Parts: sequence; structure tokens; C-alpha cells
Amino acid sequence: MINFDAFQPMAAIATTPQATRLLHPLCQSLKTTLYVPATLPLIDTTTCHYQGSLKDHLSTIWSKNRGFIFCLATGAVVRLIAPLLKDKASDPAIIVIDPTGQFVISLCSGHQGGADRLAQLIAHQLHATPIITGASHHLNLPAIDTLGMPLGWRKGPGDWTGVSQAIATQKTVQVIQEGGSQLWQDNLPQNHPFYFGFPEISENIEPAARIWIGATKRKFAPGSTVPKVQWYPRVLWVGLGCIRGTSQGLIAAAIEEVCQTYHLATEAIAGIATIDIKADEVGILQYCQNKQYPLLTYSADVLNSLKVPNPSEVVKQEVGTPSVAEAAAIYGANNWLTNQGEGEKIDIKKTLLVTKQIIKSDNEAVTIAIAQSELEYTGRAGKLYLVGMGPGNLEQITPAAKMAINEADAIIGYSLYLDLIKPLQRPGQIIESLPITKEKERAQRSIYLGRWGLSVAVISSGDCGIYGMAGLVLEELKNNHWDGKNPSIEVFPGITALQAAAARVGTPLMHDFCAISLSNLLTPWEVIKKRLTAAAMGDFVTALYNPRSQTRQTQIIEAQTIFLQSRDEKTPVALVRCAYRQDETIILTNLGEMLHHRIDMLTTVLIGNSSTFSYENWMITPRGYNQVRSQKSEVRSQNN
Ligand code: SAH
Repeated sequence: MINFDAFQPMAAIATTPQATRLLHPLCQSLKTTLYVPATLPLIDTTTCHYQGSLKDHLSTIWSKNRGFIFCLATGAVVRLIAPLLKDKASDPAIIVIDPTGQFVISLCSGHQGGADRLAQLIAHQLHATPIITGASHHLNLPAIDTLGMPLGWRKGPGDWTGVSQAIATQKTVQVIQEGGSQLWQDNLPQNHPFYFGFPEISENIEPAARIWIGATKRKFAPGSTVPKVQWYPRVLWVGLGCIRGTSQGLIAAAIEEVCQTYHLATEAIAGIATIDIKADEVGILQYCQNKQYPLLTYSADVLNSLKVPNPSEVVKQEVGTPSVAEAAAIYGANNWLTNQGEGEKIDIKKTLLVTKQIIKSDNEAVTIAIAQSELEYTGRAGKLYLVGMGPGNLEQITPAAKMAINEADAIIGYSLYLDLIKPLQRPGQIIESLPITKEKERAQRSIYLGRWGLSVAVISSGDCGIYGMAGLVLEELKNNHWDGKNPSIEVFPGITALQAAAARVGTPLMHDFCAISLSNLLTPWEVIKKRLTAAAMGDFVTALYNPRSQTRQTQIIEAQTIFLQSRDEKTPVALVRCAYRQDETIILTNLGEMLHHRIDMLTTVLIGNSSTFSYENWMITPRGYNQVRSQKSEVRSQNN
């Protein structure tokens, strides 16, 4: 299940028995307390009575929760929450569900409070319609006040309402992005209102609002008519050296001072980097803990490999490398996620923003240098959702898989499948498709995004663990020496092609069956042949995946020959192409004649066992053989 940690703690409120029945299972899966009035019976320990008025109860639990789910009249909810609302940066998400569970309304704090996302997730779970009234959602645009959240960007100052309004009214909004990932720019709808960079005078463009994205602290002129906002991606790595025993106070003050001097936002700091012998420096540890910064440490040898602008012979004598602050900052900026930036390959000029600065006080001293990384530090633990989307129709996808797709920051899959799940996508998601032969690259890309801190849904058709992406991702993780935790993994099963195909033709899989892929791209044909022979001899109902491609034509012919050696030519065979998709075709034939029909890579071939029979265009494998043998011979004799 998708976990709702990002929205916790939450509380739910029902005031009628019907509302209680509706919310109770939802609250159980969300791990949320359900409050009901003292007049209603408690269902179990996850429900609680509230005493006195709901108004009083709400004001007691208001500040303790990040989200509230109500199942009562919207008007009543509006009156209840009105006196408690403060501002949209801190108010909780408010969701209202109608008593029949058909609609899930994002009532308040849709963006920053997360109510829009929560409403969509709950709606998928309840099979309900989410009601989202924010303008950006309907323009298919990411909300500007939550734009950088998935990547851990920090919100700076500005007129957020003014900029949002300019976007909602589809005026031109200038975006100046000097740092952080631009992936969001690749995923905008065609008619988005953003202008990237600085327009030429000849272009005659007058932006109605401006968005700055970068580590530099911009000063907004008071009274400017153009609303502006600023996002700070966490791209600054502070390289730090200090005399033993330097206090965290001096470290904090020194970093503030250097940032101020160079007009850098402390909000854009990703973390601290230093030499490994400082890994136990109390002042640094306390400072990092306070600020929740990661601390990266490197050996003198590693730091030594960089040619920094300000090396020091004294430092070299002392710690074995001529630079701690500059070298550590540069190393951190290049290597915080992947260990790829080696000495020579690093572009020091491009990376280093602030060369070594020394700040002293009494007998303490700090050296600081600041480098900018291309990839921002997200500060988040990534997740990989390995999702099976079923055969292709949205009705055949599980609610859990829908939630995973909707929740993910990024969706990766083959373009045909991404098109099929378009209605499940939400504005602002990163969508990446790679060609059908690039499965390994797809797996690697999703792991990279997951390690970076994103939640990534990797989409397979059918079930992701049956000739799907899930195996490839786990294999690649193992090759990357994955620690089993980061990124975390969750597998969402889907209806596989053999089930989908079977359902369209009857009950061919009623008894023992097996699946065999005829693709010899990843498996030697000799092995496949051995399995075909064993399946045929074992009288298994057999589903053939990947039966024939443009370049692989003969395998299906050999498969037929193998089956004919131990199975009657009249054995029913179903050829189901594009099950549950718009161009679905179904052919019921038999083993002898199956090759007279179209079989391709969109087809699943179902070969019956010796007891399978057809009746009125249904393919039926009996549940128990003893009793059905006689029925079968009856059907045969009727047919004769
Ligand atoms: N992971 C998928 C299988 C991928 S292998 C699953 O669990 O279904 C691809 C093969 O699956 C195709 O060559 C075809 O044989 C079968 N297949 C996938 N979707 C199908 C559909 N909608 N109808 C019929 N066969 C399908």
C-alpha cells in the first residue's frame, strides 16, 4: 500500500452511522484515528469518541494534525474550520467526502497542505471522483507554491498569490532558473505560460510575473508591479575546515556571514563536506544535527587529487592535503549522490562559487568554501513503485496501482503504456518514456531517480513481475550493491496477460497451467524448447507470451509441432490480441489450425489441455477431470 506518511498525522470525523461505515475502512488503511460523537457506538480501537461539541473537539486536535477528513456537509465543515484557519503555508489539508463515498473534495490547503494530492489518493482508494478546484490543476500545470517540493527546494520570499494569479490567468510568467533540476520544464503542457530566461527587446514580451530558481538571494524592489517569487534548490555544498574545538556558534555565524557576503541563500545549502579526520568534530556534528544537514567526509588522499585555487603548505603539513574547505566543497558538490566525479574530470571553475574564506574569533577559526552542484540535494528517501497496470484498460488496474501512479513524483515506462494511464497522471509529474528495447536503461534511470530521493513508478503492462520491469529493477539494484532500503521498493501486482486473455474466452486456466515466453532475446531457444516439451508432456494448459515478432517468426511454428506430439490437433486454442484494449481481437481455434490466424507480439496464445473443450464460443477447462470426461465425450458426440 502507498503510505500516507507525508500527510500524517491525520484525523477523520464522522457524525452519522453511514459516515462511520464509510470512513472506518479508509481510516484503517490510512492508520488514522476516526472520531465519532459519544452517541454513536465505537467500531473498534481505531475509533474514538469525542465529548462535547465537534467545534470544541476540533479546536483541541487542530494543531496536532496535518490533515482532516470529514464525512459531513461541506457547509458544516466550512463553518467548523473557518475560525481555525490561519494561512495557507501552515493550515492542514481539509478533505470532505460525501456520505455515499462518490466524491472526495479537496476543500482547503490544496497545494502546500497537500489536500489536492490527498484527495486524489483517497479517491483512487474509494473509486470516487476527486473534486479539485484549483486553477493550476485544471490547466495541467504544477502549482507554483509546491513546484520544488518533490526535489527538496526551499521556498523563498515573494508574492506567491500574485504569481499564482498570473499563471491562473495564463499571462506570461518569466522563469529564471540558475540552479536545480530542469526536469519540471520538460513535463509542461504545450500551452504553458512560462517564458524561460530573458526576452530580447525585439520580442516585445512583458512578463506579468517572475520566478527565480537558484541559490542566489534576489532582492525584490519594494512596490514593484510585477509579482515575484523565489525557490531555492539545495545546491550549495559548504566545505568546512576548523581548528579542533571550534564551537558550532562560530561555524553557524561564519557560514551565515559568507553566504550574506556572496548573496547566497542559506536555504540553498545542501550539506557540509570536510576531511574525514573531522568526522568527530563536536561543533560540526552539532551544527549539522541542528540544521539537519548531511555531513560528507573525504580522506586526505581524495581531497589531494583536486587542484584547488588556494592550496596551503601549512595545511598539507598538518593533515596531508593542501586544501580541506575548497576540495571538500568541490568534491561534495560533484559526488554527493554518485561517486563519479574524479579529480581531473571535475570542472573546478564551474563548481566553486566561493573560494576559501577564513573566519576567526578568539582561539577558534573556521575555513569555508562553497561549491554548487548540478543536482540538488532532495533530503528525501526515494521509493520505487514497481507497478503492474493490467492489460490496458483502466478498469483492469488495481486501486493500489492507481494510487502508486498518482502519488509518484516520476513515472517511467514504455510510451504505449504511459498513454494508456494518462488519465491517472497528475500535473507536475516527471514522465519519462524509453523505447521498448531499452528496459535495462529504464531500470537504471528509475534507480537513479529513486536514489536521488524521488518516488518513481516503473510501469509494466500486465503484472510487473511477469516478464515485466520488476525483475530488471531488482537485478540492477543488486548490481548496484543496494542496501535493501534506499530506495525502498514496493511491488504492485497487476492482471497479467494470461488472466486477461483467459477471462475473455472463458475458463481455460481452470486447472494446472504454465506460462512460457517464446522470446529468445534473454533466454536460449534450447531452454524454451525444453520447457515447451515438458509443458506439452505434462498436459499443462499453456499460455505463450511474446509468441511471434517481426524478426522472430519460427518459434511459434516449433511450439505448435512440439505440442502436436503429445496433444490432439483438435485441442482448443485461443488467440487473444490486445485484451481489454480498443483493438481487441479474439479467435477461438485449435492446435492444428492456429497458425492460419494472426499471431504477433500483442497476442497471448492459450493452448488447452487434453480435457479442455469449447462450448458455444467459450473455452472451458474443467475443474475436475473424472466427472467431466464423460461430459466432454457427450459434447464430442453432439458435435459429430
Ligand atoms: N508483464 C506483462 C507481459 C509482458 S511480455 C504481463 O504480465 O502481461 C509481453 C507479452 O505479453 C506480449 O507479447 C503478449 O504475448 C502479452 N500481452 C501483454 N498484454 C497483452 C494484451 N493486452 N493482450 C494480449 N496479450 C498481451
